[in-house]
Order: sequence, then structure tokens, then C-alpha cells
Amino acid sequence: MQQETSHAIETDALIIGAGPAGLFQAFQLGLLEIKAHIVEALPHAGGQCAELYGSKPIYDIPSVPVCTGQELTDNLLRQVAPFSPTFHFGQLVNGLQRLDDSRLEVHTTGTGQTTRFITRTVMIAAGVGAFLPRSLNLEGLQAFEGQQLFHSVQDPHSFENQRVVICGDTDTALEWALRLSTAKTHPYDHAARSVTLIHRRDQFSAAPELVSQFRTAVAAGHIQFIAGQATGIFAHHGHLTGLQLLLQDESSRALQLDQLLVLQGLSPKLGPITQWGLDMERKQLRVNTETYSTSEPGVFAVGDVNTYPGKKKLILCAFHECVLAAYGAASIIDPEKKPMLEYTTTSKRLHKLLNGSAN
Ligand SMILES: Cc1cc2nc3c(=O)[nH]c(=O)nc-3n(C[C@H](O)[C@H](O)[C@H](O)COP(=O)(O)OP(=O)(O)OC[C@H]3O[C@@H](n4cnc5c(N)ncnc54)[C@H](O)[C@@H]3O)c2cc1C
Repeated sequence: MQQETSHAIETDALIIGAGPAGLFQAFQLGLLEIKAHIVEALPHAGGQCAELYGSKPIYDIPSVPVCTGQELTDNLLRQVAPFSPTFHFGQLVNGLQRLDDSRLEVHTTGTGQTTRFITRTVMIAAGVGAFLPRSLNLEGLQAFEGQQLFHSVQDPHSFENQRVVICGDTDTALEWALRLSTAKTHPYDHAARSVTLIHRRDQFSAAPELVSQFRTAVAAGHIQFIAGQATGIFAHHGHLTGLQLLLQDESSRALQLDQLLVLQGLSPKLGPITQWGLDMERKQLRVNTETYSTSEPGVFAVGDVNTYPGKKKLILCAFHECVLAAYGAASIIDPEKKPMLEYTTTSKRLHKLLNGSAN
């Protein structure tokens, strides 16, 4: 049963995290005819597989001799598609509390929006935490978030004719430096007035090909490169006007800007989950191995986020946990109904769910 009101989305199951555990959890709930909402801090699915090793090979998924992190994600998305879970990307779950009617209330925050869910069960598949952008730790800078400070480019046109400063040495940092500069490596791009890239030293973690394009653009005067780091900000009448920089030779200088793009990659933060009063052991949620329930009834934890004797942080282990957690959730959503184990090979009910036909 699922119902949306103007105040809250009501559902039977809410999954936190769209990594491999969250995606397979939605599939296992689907087999038991439980529809799920999935909230994910990143703008896309895949968790560590997509974010940290999208193009690298995985060799220990049963019956798949080798696939990349992104291929695994794509296959999990294809597998769960018949159950059409509702994805809420770019949303960070930060609040969980019990309501008087024993259901759970979950709050999220995201770019410009917050969502409230009322759910019977919560499946925490948060891995090592929400992947959030690494920002600059400068006093007063946070106030300009979304106005002049950005951690991703939503609309490249908004940088047209602006003095853009980019901090970072990642693929994304160098790619946007090239795209926004007068080098314009993308046919639809409009150039910024100036592009300056700041990084601690003249060595970059970006792919060698990108670094070589970047150096060519710097040599041609399309991009300015400064080896140094930001130590403070300048602001005037509520506007960010510049950065104070400490250069490699220990001298300092001011740099004027209109827009600041901080593209220093992402780092995982478990953050809010640690505040919910659930039993934890060294930053992981303690679960029982019968249903992968946490210490709070109706709240389950699967994948890298949980711990129990013998726990191994492997995708294969997460998949097993999702099966038992789905049965655990089913017994809370409808205590009268005892779901039977059915094989996907032979069950007509499951064929109907998976293929839309009973054959
Ligand atoms: C380099 C590397 C190689 C690896 N190779 C292998 C391998 O070969 N085989 C193998 O089995 N395992 C491998 N692993 C481990 C494997 O990637 C993890 O076990 C797996 O990703 C765990 O899946 P998960 O879904 O539990 O968590 P994650 O993949 O971490 O996904 C969790 C998701 O939850 C989101 N999230 C967290 N908190 C919140 C919140 N509050 N609100 C909203 N969203 C939130 C995060 O943004 C993230 O997308 C590897 C790991 C690394 C780093």
C-alpha cells in the first residue's frame, strides 16, 4: 500500500542508500510484493561501485566471472525495474523518529527541497555513509552555498561571462575548467570571462589525457593555474568577492571571483545515522542475523553499514542479508501474512510480478 499526501509520502518500506545493497533490497522486497522508496544522497545509483570503482573489474559476484562496478549497478537497476521502486536522488536522510501509531517518520534534505516519509519499515543500506562533496573549510564560506559556491555544475550557462575559480585536481575539476574556459571543449558551452584553477601543487589526480589538455589550455592562456590553497574569503555587501590564497612559495595573494566551484571529490559521511539511538559498534549498526534488524523494531540494516559476528564487507554477503531482511520487514508490514519461500524459476505468482505474465 502506498499513498502520497501533500505533507508526507506514506509507504511500507523506505530504503536509505542506492548502493548494491539498497538496490537488491528493493528487488527482494518486490518479490514479497512490498513497494519501496529509495533515498540516495548522490544524484545516481551504485554507491561505492559506481562512485569509487565504476570502470574497474569485480571478480567475486557469483555466476558473473567479471564485471565493472558500473556494469553491476546497471544490472541491479535492470533486475529491480519490474518493481519500479521510487528513487529520490540528491536527498540526504537526516531524521528518523517513531510516531505514536508505531510507524516511523523519516526526513530528508536535498538541494532546495525536503521530503517527509511515513513508513512501516526502514531498511538502512547506507554503506560507509552518504557521499558528500569535500568542501573548503573557510570561515564564512558556507553562507554562499548555492548562490556563488557550488560543488557541481547544474547549468553551465550560469557561468557565462563570470570570473570563475575552480578548486580541485579531479577529472571533474579539470573537465569543467576546460569546458568553461575559452578553450571550450564542448560544442554547447559558453565561455566564462576567466577561469582560474587552484590546486596545492602542479600535479593532478585527473586522467593523464585530461591533464595534458589542461596544460595545453594553460599554456595557450585559456586557463590560469595557481599552485596554492585558499586560506580565507573576501565578501562585500553579502557577496563573495574573492579568496585569500597561500601560494607554494609561502607568499599570499588575493584572487577576485564571481563564482566558486569546489570540485575536490566526495567523501562518505555516516553522519545522521549515528544520532538515531540505534545500537552501534565502531560506527556500524549491530544487527541480528535472523532478520538483520537493528535494535529498533522495523529498522533493518544491510550491507557495509551493519555488523555481526563474522561480518564480511562484501557485496555477496550484502545480497544474502537483503533476502532475510525482506522477510523480516514483511512480518512487520503484515503480521498475519506468513510469506512462503517461492522459487523464481517455478512460481507463477513471481513470473507475473517479474514479467507481467504467469507463464
Ligand atoms: C575500491 C573498492 C573495491 C571493491 N571491490 C569489491 C569486490 O571486488 N567485491 C566485493 O564484494 N566488494 C568490493 N568492494 C566493497 C563493496 O563495494 C561494498 O561492500 C559495497 O559497495 C557495499 O554496498 P552498500 O550498498 O552496503 O554500500 P555503498 O556501496 O557504500 O552504498 C551506500 C549508499 O548509501 C548512500 N547513503 C548513505 N547514507 C545516506 C543518507 N543518510 N541519506 C541518503 N543516502 C545515503 C551513499 O551515498 C551510498 O550511495 C570494494 C570496495 C572498494 C572501495
